[in-house]
Amino acid sequence: MRSRVVAELVALFAPPACAACRTPLDDPREPVCPTCRRDLPWLRGALCPRCGLPAPCAPCPAARAAFDRAWAPMAYAGPARALVTALKFGGALALANLMSAQMAAAAPADLLGDRPAGTAALVPVPAHPAHTRHRGFDQAEQLARALANRTGLPLNACLSRGGHDERQLGKTRSARLRHGARAIQATGPVPPHPILVDDVHTTGATLDAAAQALRRAGASRVAAVTYARTPRH
Ligand SMILES: [Zn+2]
Ligand SMILES: [Zn+2]
Repeated sequence: MRSRVVAELVALFAPPACAACRTPLDDPREPVCPTCRRDLPWLRGALCPRCGLPAPCAPCPAARAAFDRAWAPMAYAGPARALVTALKFGGALALANLMSAQMAAAAPADLLGDRPAGTAALVPVPAHPAHTRHRGFDQAEQLARALANRTGLPLNACLSRGGHDERQLGKTRSARLRHGARAIQATGPVPPHPILVDDVHTTGATLDAAAQALRRAGASRVAAVTYARTPRH
């Protein structure tokens, strides 16, 4: 108890630090220092609309994915990678706001723009329940919520993920992927054009499993928006 009070007092009086590099901030209203902001690895060139990698991506890793479209504003590197980690473990709302602002500002106009009411909604990729319990914070949901506030698109947390990841230990990768696909399910009505939201697009296997669940529940077109995209493996 006493140590918690001390920790809170230290946090109160310590100068606010950059969420990416931890140097003290001159302007405590900004979660990220000017150097990290300048060094953010924006994906500025032409991107493959299917997989989000710099074009040309052939062979496209998303050619057979259940999502039609994937996009991220940042490469998963440098300060962008540090911000993803900070969001995962720190859970600052100011950080989710900043990251969603960067996503909304750079997104192609037809991805997060106006749609006929009731057709599109932001759907957070569900975290593994054990992870959410452990951290008490779901970064995909925080990003989706901040993005909904910013774009006016509705938030629809219609997917959930079962547990039992420990049973996957020792299984082959394809068996794990099949299990992952089954483990994500729609738990409520699904919009016709869902936009999946997550922090990082790595292999695309989780986005594919989530998109499959949305299609099984009746979605006709699925897009995926993440803060960062890893380079091709
Ligand atoms: Zn910094
Ligand atoms: Zn591609």
